[in-house]
Amino acid sequence: MMKLYIKNNFTTELPADPNQVNVPRQVHEACYSYAFPKKPSNPSLIHASEEVANVIGLSPEDIHSADFLNTFSGSTIYPGTKPYALAYAGHQFGNWAGQLGDGRAINLTEVVHENKTYTLQLKGAGPTPYSRTADGFAVLRSSIREHLCAEAMHYLGVPTTRSLSLMLSGDQVLRDVLYNGNPAYEKGAVVCRVAPSFIRFGSFELFASREDHVNLKLLADFTIKHHFSHIQKEGVEKYLAFFQEVTQTTLKMIVEWQRVGFVHGVMNTDNMSIHGITIDYGPYGWLEDYNPSWTPNTTDSQHKRYRFGNQPEIALWNLYQLANALYPLIKEAKPLETILDAFSSEYEKEYLDMMRDKLGFQIKKEQDIALIQSLTQLLEKVETDMTIFFRNLSSVTKSDAGITAFNTIKDAFYTEKDWDETILKDWQDWFEKYSLRINEETLSDPERKEQMNKVNPKYVLRNYMAQLCIDDADKGDYSLLNELFEMLKNPYDEQPNLQKWFAKRPDWARDKVGCSMLSCSS
Ligand code: AMP
Ligand code: MG
Repeated sequence: MMKLYIKNNFTTELPADPNQVNVPRQVHEACYSYAFPKKPSNPSLIHASEEVANVIGLSPEDIHSADFLNTFSGSTIYPGTKPYALAYAGHQFGNWAGQLGDGRAINLTEVVHENKTYTLQLKGAGPTPYSRTADGFAVLRSSIREHLCAEAMHYLGVPTTRSLSLMLSGDQVLRDVLYNGNPAYEKGAVVCRVAPSFIRFGSFELFASREDHVNLKLLADFTIKHHFSHIQKEGVEKYLAFFQEVTQTTLKMIVEWQRVGFVHGVMNTDNMSIHGITIDYGPYGWLEDYNPSWTPNTTDSQHKRYRFGNQPEIALWNLYQLANALYPLIKEAKPLETILDAFSSEYEKEYLDMMRDKLGFQIKKEQDIALIQSLTQLLEKVETDMTIFFRNLSSVTKSDAGITAFNTIKDAFYTEKDWDETILKDWQDWFEKYSLRINEETLSDPERKEQMNKVNPKYVLRNYMAQLCIDDADKGDYSLLNELFEMLKNPYDEQPNLQKWFAKRPDWARDKVGCSMLSCSS
């Protein structure tokens, strides 16, 4: 018997929607609605993470039990639990969207293991009162992307929700991938996500927008009591400390995204976790050629609001929305503004330190700012693979002259055809400066390389890799999924037998759907 240590703080302490009929509706004065997963017709386990199982107190044997299959496919309800969908609202693409909520996510329960609380949530297990006009299900392709990426991010050291399991439901789901009137059936799948909670910025926005200050306060007090229990203050000071901390963790998360080249793609306020962890892997993508204007999300192709280079700005914008939502509890704009005003300079500071790490600078020098700026400008000028560039940079030695250093990173360029003399010269100049700069460092070449390789991953989940894995999985072959999952557990290790994945995006993937662009249709 698979044993989970159940704890239902959320549903015990916060108000439920009294209506238990599972039909789409506006839900008032409640933090959640009870909703049962739809029984899948023929569930099967594709992949589970032993590490995440361990985190919530399950053994590797549990993973292969019937209990595991039944519980995490939504087939049966674990004893002592009553699944529920969260009520939340949000700003989508900069516009107020009103009530959203868990339309295709169902929280099974909270569990406790080693004094930590986790919420287990099925994504794609059927409709809830928040499904609006959609079906509540998820397809295999998007579920693979979520399962692989959440775990890859964790091992990269980026704060994230985890993914316990990936299951086929055995049912078919209708999707119009390109939104061009050609819907087709795809395999349905269910992922089980794990996080301290799934409370978002939008959870607070929901109550604030309705001037429901009673529930706003209940939710804030609950969140602080259970998830920010180190905050010992009371009243206004307590909410401010909470907001300050969310600002800090959100900022740190964005710095990590920029470090590894992750583009979330849908930074709506309903997709911003109160824990400062990456949540909702939809049309995300990895920067291959370094292009701050790139977004993987086709829905955003016109304004590119959620492009790589705009992620810090958007995080701040989203924090403004959270500040507005918390305002009724604080009733003073000034202290909130002070926290928000500090964001940009704090971010610049953290970003600079992160880039110094990527470049192998342990000593902080004023001139680093200019050196980093000129580097990012150069990286933009010709198509350059971000991951390969920084990984290879660690092999540049103190005695390398400009041209030798340049040759060390040359693999990172996609094409040499649009190069002219000036670009070559700019690169050589930059490497001359870089060489001088690393000669000011005390670490030896091998020591610096070791440090740099801890922050510059060799393996990331390139967009085409996820797609190859999806194509195979669609045919029932999960070997690539297993291979990538294992490889991405050690993204900073050399893993020489997996060298083929340390390569630029192949040409066929340049403009292929799923590889360079994705829709929200998942
Ligand atoms: P997202 O941008 O994917 O986080 O989704 C935004 C909102 O749409 C959330 O409230 C989701 O729960 C809801 N949603 C997305 N896809 C579906 C679906 N297939 N069925 C029901 N609701 C959905
Ligand atoms: Mg979402």
